[in-house]
Amino acid sequence: PFEKSKGQHILRNPALVDSIVAKAGLKPTDTVLEIGPGTGNLTKRLLEAGVKAVVAVELDPRMVLELNRRFQGHPLSSRLKVIQGDVLKCDLPYFDICVANIPYQISSPLTFKLLSHRPIFRCAVIMFQREFAMRLVAQPGDSLYCRLSVNVQLLSRVSHLLKVGRNNFRPPPKVDSSVVRIEPRKPLPPVSFKEWDGLVRICFNRKNKTLGSLFKQKRVLELLEKNYKTMQSLQLAQDAEMGEEKMSADDVALLANMVEDLSMEIGDEKEDEMEMDDADMAGDGAASFKEKIMGILQQGDFAEKRGSKLSQVDFLYLLSLFNKAGIHFS
Ligand code: SAM
Repeated sequence: PFEKSKGQHILRNPALVDSIVAKAGLKPTDTVLEIGPGTGNLTKRLLEAGVKAVVAVELDPRMVLELNRRFQGHPLSSRLKVIQGDVLKCDLPYFDICVANIPYQISSPLTFKLLSHRPIFRCAVIMFQREFAMRLVAQPGDSLYCRLSVNVQLLSRVSHLLKVGRNNFRPPPKVDSSVVRIEPRKPLPPVSFKEWDGLVRICFNRKNKTLGSLFKQKRVLELLEKNYKTMQSLQLAQDAEMGEEKMSADDVALLANMVEDLSMEIGDEKEDEMEMDDADMAGDGAASFKEKIMGILQQGDFAEKRGSKLSQVDFLYLLSLFNKAGIHFS
């Protein structure tokens, strides 16, 4: 009856379902989003936990039928709303918290869909494939540290809650699982996610190459130079219209908050450098674009470093150095 293509692995261990619900820290005022309720084992416990409402999005019409049948006449059924559809394609309803045992093939797009949903939710407690979960929580230097880790950790705090063996499911999947908590940062860091992702993509293009060699690639230099020229012409047009505008002081202040929020340290030296005026970096045509880029890497002592070892704070600092020099990644 279960379809592999839809990732239908039903949770069969009631104690495990209970501990997932307990870890969610539900409040009576919460609207809970459940993704892929399947036959409703988790749904039932969520309703019984006494929340305001459960909205469950399920792709498979047969499962939706089964769910409706299961909760028909149930005293809490008025608090349940089942939406039939693909969670990646539908508009998400308002929710405070997301609790879900998801089909693993949608892990990555779903995580970013949740993190870009507004208003931002309080927390998500989600079952993922073990390796995906370990990537989410990986720290600089860990073998699984990757673009996913860096991007998700920019937008949220992620913690590993429970290891779940494959035998807790029917039918058992081929891999073990883990339950993870994702708490969006509030406020979200004041960086353009496109800029951030553009930088991080380059730094992880070859995870163990130095940034010095990654930024020397022709493809990368051409892209950055194109962006640079576009920005400069936009800037010139804007300056002509409204006089010169410097907003980097605000940016740095916001960035500093973010850094505090990450409760990591930025050395005094780095802070001084961040406030440095970089009029000298403005293209005077003498230095080649490549030298300009290498200069920025050197300025932050990044040329010999590798993406796989850089923290959130390192990436933020590097992005601020590039942006202050007029270099953009999107
Ligand atoms: N939550 C149930 C449990 O724990 O027993 C079932 C979990 S099962 C791993 C995943 C469920 O998600 C299946 O019921 C499947 O039909 C549904 N599903 C698969 N892809 C989906 C999608 N794109 N949008 C919504 N639901 C989906």
